Amino acid sequence: MSEIMTFGTDNEDIKGGYKKYQGKKGETHRAGFVYSDPKSMFAGAKVHYNQRYFLCKKTICCDKQAPRWRVGTVIVLYSTDKLGNPKMDPFSYEILPWMFSEQSYNKLRVADSEFPLISHDVKITCTNQEYQNLDINSCKESIWQMKEDFKKKVLEEAKPVWEHVKKNLASDLSVEEIKDLISGGTEGGADPSATNVNLEDVLKNV
Ligand SMILES: [Zn+2]
Repeated sequence: MSEIMTFGTDNEDIKGGYKKYQGKKGETHRAGFVYSDPKSMFAGAKVHYNQRYFLCKKTICCDKQAPRWRVGTVIVLYSTDKLGNPKMDPFSYEILPWMFSEQSYNKLRVADSEFPLISHDVKITCTNQEYQNLDINSCKESIWQMKEDFKKKVLEEAKPVWEHVKKNLASDLSVEEIKDLISGGTEGGADPSATNVNLEDVLKNV
């Protein structure tokens, strides 16, 4: 992505801060969920997408599009080969925000029912990069929790990232701003993480 784009003052991609986790097609990554409290491993909100994610205010925003959950968490992403096997020499990792759709959350719940996410890393395989369609497979152990001092370090580094996740799941727009956005004449474009998902949801309900 190195094209030149034009925009006004609403480009939320430019804010420094954290790079977000993104699956890459054909690659398998290995990650652990970093939590200090297993009961609040995820943050979530009902949102809409129109040029950006914004919180549902149960008003005009719902006229054309049902709200959808957007979920965020903090992961430790280990450096691996393309099959998701950790590189041990040297071992490295990144602490990243990961925000995703209902579909991925449901896959994580399924994985969790067999191998709890609090004590098992997952392998994430991307099948469609544009829509971030991801397959989740549980790992035997949780690397970041295997050594007490490493665990402490990861927990410490994850703190500001977790605050970032909670603040940046979606924009908190006023109803006026939502009206402007919706009536702005632009068709918003498809939710990059949900267009494909909508179709599946439709079929689920048949
Ligand atoms: Zn709404």
